Amino acid sequence: MSLKDILIARIQQNGPLTVADYMTECLLHPKHGYYTNRDPLGSRGDFTTAPEISQMFGELIGLCIAQCWVDQGRPAQICLAELGPGRGTLMADILRATRQVPGFHDAAEIFLLEASPTLREIQRETLRDYSPKWISSISDLPALPLFLIANEFFDALPIRQFLRDGDGWRERLVGSDGKSLNFGLGTRAAQTLLKDRLTDTNDGDLVECCAAAVPVISSAAERIATCGGMALIVDYGDWRALGDTFQALRDHKHSDPLEEPGKADLTAHVDFEAIARSAQSAGCSFSRLTPQGVYLERLGITARAQNLASSLQGQALEAHILAHRRLTHPNEMGNLFKVLGIYPPSAALPPGLEP
Ligand code: SAH
Repeated sequence: MSLKDILIARIQQNGPLTVADYMTECLLHPKHGYYTNRDPLGSRGDFTTAPEISQMFGELIGLCIAQCWVDQGRPAQICLAELGPGRGTLMADILRATRQVPGFHDAAEIFLLEASPTLREIQRETLRDYSPKWISSISDLPALPLFLIANEFFDALPIRQFLRDGDGWRERLVGSDGKSLNFGLGTRAAQTLLKDRLTDTNDGDLVECCAAAVPVISSAAERIATCGGMALIVDYGDWRALGDTFQALRDHKHSDPLEEPGKADLTAHVDFEAIARSAQSAGCSFSRLTPQGVYLERLGITARAQNLASSLQGQALEAHILAHRRLTHPNEMGNLFKVLGIYPPSAALPPGLEP
């Protein structure tokens, strides 16, 4: 039985699913989930991410994290953790770049939070020299300063969608006619989740909420506020969610999110304001939301790119120049992707970011 048939049967028995429930089943169903049994990354997968485009991304992030560690007095033991590490490429680049930072590797214990058994195996192989440990929630981490990175993790967390209708909201739901899946709307209701959004939205506007992000950020920020450390959240999205950003990607192309559940990557843009406010409520400060291109330029990506270019020729050089452009140019990932820094109010701001 395909995941589509399973979901249609479930909808016929219990009624329509929220977009969040649909997303969870499609991405993480134990047998048919998109992430459960495949490696979706890279040119042969469905999408490519910044660390897979160039080593420069992880190197600069690594040095940014290490600088924060130095600024916070080089704590002797820290957790260096990543959420949704994919193939482990970003963490491997972070660790390679920070080998030169005296004492950093001795202090850092590596932790990974990863839902996919397939990707966990790939991470184990990529990071075999560093003995990482896998956790199932932030609360599993030892009570030490936490230096946390998440690239394209929050866009994979399930969202709910609500359409403004007068002073209330109608939830967008996934239903079925018995053959295919289709979108519908629930009945009009007040939503405590959206009580602040009646002032900045109009009738007919669609708003997305990612409830799953809150506990992750709250517990990470609580740890950072009490023990020290910092978090860097990199993703596509904006300061406040408005409009339908629920999308499916298959084979590097957009596809219909309801067409083949479990076979395409499903994501939504990240509401960075919601993340920043959760971190603030847990006692942390947050940086200004900064475009990825600006952040990487401030950290010196152009100098690093020139340095690497000096030992490259031909196709490898062309690919390297294109990768630099892809990561930073405003028409490529430079503007769409943003960086948010979370840090203790008493600590220095992470390099490359502004208050
Ligand atoms: N950060 C990587 C991979 C991004 S893809 C990179 O930049 O290349 C999203 C990652 O998050 C994958 O590793 C996926 O398996 C993981 N993931 C998605 N939902 C998750 C969840 N609910 N819990 C833990 N990991 C999750």
